[in-house]
Amino acid sequence: MTSENDVVQSARRQLLIGGTWRDAAGGATLPVEDPSTGRTLTDVASASSDDALDALAAADAAAGAWAAHPPRARGEILRRAFELMTERADDLALLMTLEMGKSLAESRSEVLYAAEFFRWFSEEAVRIAGRWSNEPGGSGRLLTMKQPVGPCLLITPWNFPLAMGTRKIGPAIAAGNTMVVKPAQQTPLSMYALAAILTEAGLPDGVLNVITSSSASRVVGPLVDDPRLRKLSFTGSTEVGRTLMAQASGRLLRLSMELGGNAPFLVFEDADLDAAVDGAVIAKTRNVGQSCVAANRFHVHASIAAQFTERLAARLGKLTVGRGTEPGTDIGPLIDGQQRDTVIELVADATDRGARVAVGGSAGTGPGYFYEPTVLGDVPPGARVLSEEIFGPVAPVATFETESEALAAANQSDFGLVAYVYSTNLKRALRVVEGLQTGMVGLNRGLVSNPAAPFGGVKQSGFGREGGFEGIEEYLSTKYVAVDL
Ligand code: NAP
Repeated sequence: MTSENDVVQSARRQLLIGGTWRDAAGGATLPVEDPSTGRTLTDVASASSDDALDALAAADAAAGAWAAHPPRARGEILRRAFELMTERADDLALLMTLEMGKSLAESRSEVLYAAEFFRWFSEEAVRIAGRWSNEPGGSGRLLTMKQPVGPCLLITPWNFPLAMGTRKIGPAIAAGNTMVVKPAQQTPLSMYALAAILTEAGLPDGVLNVITSSSASRVVGPLVDDPRLRKLSFTGSTEVGRTLMAQASGRLLRLSMELGGNAPFLVFEDADLDAAVDGAVIAKTRNVGQSCVAANRFHVHASIAAQFTERLAARLGKLTVGRGTEPGTDIGPLIDGQQRDTVIELVADATDRGARVAVGGSAGTGPGYFYEPTVLGDVPPGARVLSEEIFGPVAPVATFETESEALAAANQSDFGLVAYVYSTNLKRALRVVEGLQTGMVGLNRGLVSNPAAPFGGVKQSGFGREGGFEGIEEYLSTKYVAVDL
């Protein structure tokens, strides 16, 4: 494997516009930090609004030829990119760990998961179809066709620097769209590495343009207002999603919104407790808890809550906290000091209200933004940790007595991305699944993400689906033709 220094030195740091790697106007840059040390790794280009408009112009110029590019050829580029990502998983993982913090093992599994979106959508590229049907009154025929939606703006967060990109870029490419991608400013290097791989895989100039910037609104605002842009797909916080939706309403842009979560994890008295604890460990600690599908709050039947809390605490207490690049690290740092302070505040609020710390409960002394894996028992209703997205390795456990109480607690949230249900009673499990106000459910499973499945939420978690057969629909528009025979 390449050294840390080599992987950073060989990383792309310039904007990719129209197939050319170039500096930002005026040579502006922004620093990229290693969250495990707080030190600057390197600097990348920081785009101006003119750079952003250049990127959109490149996407617009490439749109016609790319839409006409044979679907099989589009799919083969994605397939080749999947293979290159898989071959280079170790180096990509190291780059991701350096700029984002999570352990190398977790970064590697993200690289492979991210690559799978390219494999899935390479297969979907050739299955875009329309319909030919009889007009019910017999007066003609109804023809529908699917066409690329047009130049897209794809905005991604820092928590899964590659996977949040490939699940937008994969279907956008497969459907024949061109795009401008704006990754989070904390994790630009992974996205540039991905862009270099797509270029190497044969993606024509201008189909994918990548701009990083120290000011998201400076580059996004002019793009959203530009009539050449036809679609905005955003993954990030509900707050920013709402702002973007308001901006996009001026031009009625097609939107996909993958927003915040606050997943309930329900454990009924008839659950397989071993499986529930295993699932809880995955759902809570994956990505250091910084995942929109992280189990945010555990609602456990009162008869087994103490046992569940103890067993989860024993498991989380054994995890090793450290720099993601160190062998044996399970839990890396949080992304930045602000995120660590939020976690500190939420835990303090819960303990002030009477919650009991079963394990953990402290932040590291630094450097780096570490927080210990933590389990809080007897968390009272009203604690902020039950209603706010934690984005850290903290598991608050609350109790319920009845099924309807459990369902009410689960649904008592503005968010509706995912819920987890542990029960061995089939009828109950299905009843609860039906009653949950979420876009996804993990039934006796702590992990739902899968490129072959439609990922997305309801309520304030947004709308639109990524992955599965539904994922490509977000990048197609339907044209209906009334045919007179
Ligand atoms: P964020 O602050 O909303 O940022 C997400 C992206 O939006 C970044 O690229 C950011 O750029 C950009 N952005 C910020 N302000 C903007 C503005 N005014 N106009 C245009 N773009 C703007 O979210 P985050 O903290 O990075 O990510 C965590 C959130 O994402 C959590 O709430 C999590 O639940 C959610 N998430 C949801 C999903 C899902 O599929 N539902 C998946 C992953 C994460 P800068 O980096 O320059 O600020």
